[in-house]
Amino acid sequence: MERGPILVILGRQGSGKGTQAALIARRYGVVHISTGDMLRAAVAAGTELGQRAKAVMDAGDLVGDDIMIGIVGERLAGDDIRVGGVLLDGFPRTTAQADALAEILEGEGPDLAVNLDVPQGEVTQRMLDRGRADDTEEAIARRLELYEAETAPLLAWFEERGCLRVVDGMGSEEEVFNRLAQAISSL
Ligand code: ADP
Repeated sequence: MERGPILVILGRQGSGKGTQAALIARRYGVVHISTGDMLRAAVAAGTELGQRAKAVMDAGDLVGDDIMIGIVGERLAGDDIRVGGVLLDGFPRTTAQADALAEILEGEGPDLAVNLDVPQGEVTQRMLDRGRADDTEEAIARRLELYEAETAPLLAWFEERGCLRVVDGMGSEEEVFNRLAQAISSL
């Protein structure tokens, strides 16, 4: 059976990744898997996973690889994804998660990983402007530092597999979306 595309979107906090991911999913009919949304839903529902994840997320730390791999692996087994394809948003986030993804996909992908590139100074300003309670300058700096530390090796991981594309994330929502659509259409 023909399978749908397996896409990954990467980008700093405040890069507009979630917004663009939703637009891409709608345009291309792929299933949007946002691990942040899944975890927040679990927290809101008060499930066992949610209770465990809440403290970790509040501290700005990463939920454990085993838990994340379990959640995403289960979701990826769905027939809707095999047929329609998927856009992964928030996963993989570490090289251990990327290795697990490769295993889950049995060497079938991902077909494309786009890094939505917005400089650190710009995302800091955007997060300060949105004025969320947890968006203090110090907390933002800490989250971005963590992102930098774990993402650089992840970019190398996708680069080695020849599926990494860098897309300029500066500009209007529409301009950025058009760039992303171009990268996806070239598949
Ligand atoms: P952000 O881009 O601001 O980090 P997300 O919505 O992607 O927001 O994720 C929110 C939180 O959920 C993260 O700070 C982290 O604690 C947790 N999380 C999401 N995805 C993963 C993942 N793949 N591995 C570990 N933790 C994750």
